[in-house]
Amino acid sequence: MNKKIFLLFLFVFLLMGISGCNKGQKFIEEAYILDPKEALDLHSSKFEDDPEWKEIENFLHMIAKKDIDTIDRFYLYGSEPGYEKVATQNYGYLPFYTNEEVEIINEIVPKSNTDIRPGRNRTKTKYIVIHNTGMASPVMTASRLSQSINNSNRQASWHFTVDDHEIYQQLFIDEIGWHAGNPEGNNYGIGIEMAVYQGIDLNMAMRNTAKLTAWLMLAYNLEIKDVKRHYDFSGKNCPQVLIEAERWEEFLDLVEIEYYGQKYFSDVEFIWESLSTKLDDEGKIISKAGKGDNVSYRVKVNFNGKKKIYQFASYLEKMI
Ligand SMILES: [Zn+2]
Repeated sequence: MNKKIFLLFLFVFLLMGISGCNKGQKFIEEAYILDPKEALDLHSSKFEDDPEWKEIENFLHMIAKKDIDTIDRFYLYGSEPGYEKVATQNYGYLPFYTNEEVEIINEIVPKSNTDIRPGRNRTKTKYIVIHNTGMASPVMTASRLSQSINNSNRQASWHFTVDDHEIYQQLFIDEIGWHAGNPEGNNYGIGIEMAVYQGIDLNMAMRNTAKLTAWLMLAYNLEIKDVKRHYDFSGKNCPQVLIEAERWEEFLDLVEIEYYGQKYFSDVEFIWESLSTKLDDEGKIISKAGKGDNVSYRVKVNFNGKKKIYQFASYLEKMI
């Protein structure tokens, strides 16, 4: 072997050794390759007899997808001049679940602002009501919207504002807000506004909203049928972006994943690792796929003192 190549190998081995040491935990007990063809069959796991691990495997199957859709072009709508209709495209994703806590930034509107805070509490919580904004300019992030509702005199309010990065809270959860356009929705519903601005990763905004929604469902003992669109109360075309892009059902699927994860797997650690340059460790497709391609990833699962690695592959459809 030529000396240079030998040194290169030596270097690589050393590097592997060092990075291996840094990882601390070893997840090498068992590695299962799960065929993506089986990914849609929730009860086909043939590797594990322990019922608790079987539940975990079923959950992984719920997240795995045989194909990753490229997201069709969709539109955001704005009342601002020049942003009336903004064409947007995001790449696809896989909804990798982690049991990180829902992080909420508190920006509760001052009580003196009675236009925003009616000052009454709900007697019962029956719904979670989903909205999206009609302010498509690139500055209208959740942070900006939260600031503007804090300084607004418009009689409109909701509890949480979410985008692809953050979640802000404007009302105490048990307070009544004005968002649903009818008494039933306002008096019994928690309002969540998705801030959809030009440049948004809508997939991530949907996932963040799903995480918050599932957390609220568990807190208030609600079911998936209780997750409503603004449209369901007043007929308003809201959340318009999800409705027009036909992504409402997909949103509910994301809520279910988060719900199961938060309800049943709070004591399970999931560590996702992409094995492809087109996919990141959060499950986002990060580069244009061109002709269509396979992407693979693994998830390290740590539960009850036992660690396992599962490997999956998905077909990433070609970009349009
Ligand atoms: Zn709405």
